[in-house]
Amino acid sequence: MSEKFDAIVIGSGISGGWAAKELCEKGLKTLVLERGREVKHIEDYPTGTMLPWEFEHRNRLTREMKEANPIVSRCYAFYEGTEHFFVKDDEHPYIQEKPFDWIRGYQTGGKSLMWARQTQRWSDFDFEGPARDGFAVDWPIRYADIAPWYSYVEKFAGISGNKDGLKNLPDGEFLPAHEMNCVESHFQSQIAKHYKDRHIIQGRCAHITDNRQIYLDQNRSKCMHRTICERGCPYGGYFSSNSSTLPAAQRTGNLTLRPHSVVHSILFDEKLGKAKGVKVIDAISGEEIDFHARIIFVNASALNSNLILLNSKSSRFPNGLGNDNGMLGKYVAFHNYNRTISAEFEGYLDKTTSGKRPNSPYVPRFRNVEKQETDFLRGYAAGFQASRNPYYPSDGWGEDLKESLSTKKYNDYWTVGSHMMGETIPKESNYVALDDKEVDKWGIPKLRISIDYDENDKKMEQDYMDQFTEMFEKAGFKNIKTRESKRNPGNDIHEMGGVRMGHDPKTSLLDKWNALHHCQNVFVTDGACMTSTSTQNPSLTYMALTARAVDYAVNRMKRAEL
Ligand SMILES: Cc1cc2nc3c(=O)[nH]c(=O)nc-3n(C[C@H](O)[C@H](O)[C@H](O)COP(=O)(O)OP(=O)(O)OC[C@H]3O[C@@H](n4cnc5c(N)ncnc54)[C@H](O)[C@@H]3O)c2cc1C
Ligand code: SF4
Repeated sequence: MSEKFDAIVIGSGISGGWAAKELCEKGLKTLVLERGREVKHIEDYPTGTMLPWEFEHRNRLTREMKEANPIVSRCYAFYEGTEHFFVKDDEHPYIQEKPFDWIRGYQTGGKSLMWARQTQRWSDFDFEGPARDGFAVDWPIRYADIAPWYSYVEKFAGISGNKDGLKNLPDGEFLPAHEMNCVESHFQSQIAKHYKDRHIIQGRCAHITDNRQIYLDQNRSKCMHRTICERGCPYGGYFSSNSSTLPAAQRTGNLTLRPHSVVHSILFDEKLGKAKGVKVIDAISGEEIDFHARIIFVNASALNSNLILLNSKSSRFPNGLGNDNGMLGKYVAFHNYNRTISAEFEGYLDKTTSGKRPNSPYVPRFRNVEKQETDFLRGYAAGFQASRNPYYPSDGWGEDLKESLSTKKYNDYWTVGSHMMGETIPKESNYVALDDKEVDKWGIPKLRISIDYDENDKKMEQDYMDQFTEMFEKAGFKNIKTRESKRNPGNDIHEMGGVRMGHDPKTSLLDKWNALHHCQNVFVTDGACMTSTSTQNPSLTYMALTARAVDYAVNRMKRAEL
């Protein structure tokens, strides 16, 4: 069986959804190959409106579930109401040379269903970092190359935020921002008073906070602040491929979405010197099928895209597609979320909050932004949050308990907390490779993952704890406690690299348009393409790079160059 399309997209998650929308809207007959089952917007969100007492286990994980799934159970978003969107540990095993939590969602929409929706732009400080420090190759693009594409994707996806006017975190096309509560605003003003280069801002996040026509046209409406987003939102209040980009692609009539299609490899035409299609294994029937197209977008999520390219072997590319320099799979990096800090604040005790907010304040990176100033490379951003928690009496029974519950509703303090989001350095020693012995149930080699923290990460963690302790003290917070989360790499779910972009084919795999240097009709626009990680949550950058690469690819096709 063989079928021909103009374009093939591998994966239907955040980046694949954008590739599909852009290709279809530009008139290309596009095949999206998705290894998982189909999840249709609204109708396949079985827990999207359930109340806690409607769940068999009150929306918690059972001990059996945790014991059977130690890896995915360590993801904070994995619970009874979401477990059907996550890959379980025994379903698609991989080999951990070093502990690595590979958190995956194999279905239409990928992880766009469960993500936390934080969407911060990169600035030139981020793109220039590697060239300045020399710890990775220079990015072949700068902020000006991607800025219009950030605007383009932000307008369609719906990003809320404030125009904060910060050089190191450029403003975007924002919908109204969520409010800060009084203690968060207090922290903001204290930090502004004590530091010139540190700012507390509201997080920029992919939630519709204003019912504009562009969202009504997508059948999406304003977020109702229920904060159970990762179960799938029937309002389309947050951005997912399922609610936004895939339906847009569908409306053009150019989309063929094929679920249960495990891409085995990309097929290389030795005569023409370019890719001619992909080999797929039907996950249900086991049948092998080749699909053909003029261009291929690889959007299977960072490490799966590495796996597919490594498994795409031909006489021209015996070590994987485009892998002349042997660097495919190497220089993988991630974000270090290993430290948190908490404290109490005894101000504003006459106030509390009402309602919920699917977002929280953000502390943009302030270390080594304009120049190297510490004994570690690069820096960290951080989340911040203040809440007035309900009072739970620790003792008492019967009448006494009733009495203390009805007289005191809240603790006598606010709880504040922060978590770090550190940049890690892409290194050759942090890599993924195909295992030479073990294969999965479709005969595809299992992925071997060898990724670890290093000395730079440890120094950065110490600096985060020192700086945030100082900042908390200056804000008058008490009972400050730092904590090591002991997270494995990967638990941040921001794994990136392995197919990095760069100027030079000797030291990188992709050119500045995300095309493989040595196979120009194959584009990789998910996290695999990232030359370095900086500190911002990465998915907005994948979306912008994808839309930009599609525009470039289609222009080249029109000129008959691809
Ligand atoms: C709980 C959680 C919170 C997060 N919070 C944030 C956040 O706040 N901000 C942020 O920027 N990011 C966040 N992320 C990360 C974000 O979800 C990912 O960066 C993003 O989804 C990556 O997009 P992608 O297209 O590369 O991959 P995915 O969205 O994972 O999609 C990849 C798709 O490819 C399919 N696929 C894989 N292999 C194959 C194959 N061989 N053949 C066919 N199909 C294949 C998969 O089934 C999947 O559907 C979070 C993730 C999680 C789980
Ligand atoms: S908080 Fe908003 S986006 Fe999230 S589930 Fe509720 S309505 Fe939907």
